[in-house]
Amino acid sequence: LMKADHVKVYFKGKNKRSGTVKAVDDISFEIMRGETFGVVGESGCGKSTLGRTLIRLLKPTDGHIYLEGQDIATLKGAELKQMRKKAQIIFQDPSACLNPRRTVKQILMEPFEIHQMGGQMDVDARIMELLQLVGLDSYHLSRYPHELSGGQKQRIGIARALALEPDIIICDEAVSALDVSVQAQVLNLLQELKEKLGLTYFFISHNLNVVYQVSDRVGVMYLGKMVEIAAYDQLYEKRYHPYTEALLSAIPQVGQETGKKRIHLEGEVPSPSNPPSGCRFHTRCPKACDKCREEVPELKEIETGHFVACHLY
Ligand code: SF4
Ligand code: MG
Repeated sequence: LMKADHVKVYFKGKNKRSGTVKAVDDISFEIMRGETFGVVGESGCGKSTLGRTLIRLLKPTDGHIYLEGQDIATLKGAELKQMRKKAQIIFQDPSACLNPRRTVKQILMEPFEIHQMGGQMDVDARIMELLQLVGLDSYHLSRYPHELSGGQKQRIGIARALALEPDIIICDEAVSALDVSVQAQVLNLLQELKEKLGLTYFFISHNLNVVYQVSDRVGVMYLGKMVEIAAYDQLYEKRYHPYTEALLSAIPQVGQETGKKRIHLEGEVPSPSNPPSGCRFHTRCPKACDKCREEVPELKEIETGHFVACHLY
């Protein structure tokens, strides 16, 4: 469905001394139709920037992004607007992205207004359908966001994302702001919707447990780079990258399965405006050698469908 080809997203720092922030630095991968591609990494690793870029809320500095074969990296104007129907996003904080002065009905009408779609009758029927899809009903139509619970607000965010029948939805920490019990409900809803509507998700979370629950394949990011990509069960079986190993060792069930102890990483995540030379993980990697400080490891397919960027392999 989607292919990122050497995508870079650089930001100019606030002043001369802060330099260029390489938020996403030369990332290539594919997203298959119908899958949930989970992305995990510590905060600041570039996963949100990557998600926003894939649906062109941000413009990549370099590289190509193909959606159903069409390069969307440089689209502008009407073509960009047209493309937006196919790719939507759900954000972390539902309160922040629902206009407090608009009712649920008005909020759900926005996508149709922006894209000048449908007569009033059609839109009303579609809005009812959307509410039902996310487990709400006509009672909620005239409610304002502050009258809804966190979970209900996120359901409205999901309904709005579904309005124009997108192919792919970026879920950016979509359940991270919710209580744990509500998280499970919303994750179940996303799963149901995916099956019912044939959706594809790019599911971003700092929470590996959540990513592990929902993903068909998982991409691990560190400081603007994708360091390992594999199917969920491949990664469960064997993780190669020392960073992935450390991340996964923090999940009790998974860590115990292999009889390994939790791996604590030394040091802070370096700044993306001044990343370490060679492998960006070398300052914290327990297995680093001289080559790691000098050469950037390429992401290579070392088993069918299992990609790793590390000199050890
Ligand atoms: Fe560690 Fe070297 Fe592999 Fe980077 S390339 S993860 S520093 S062993
Ligand atoms: Mg983020």
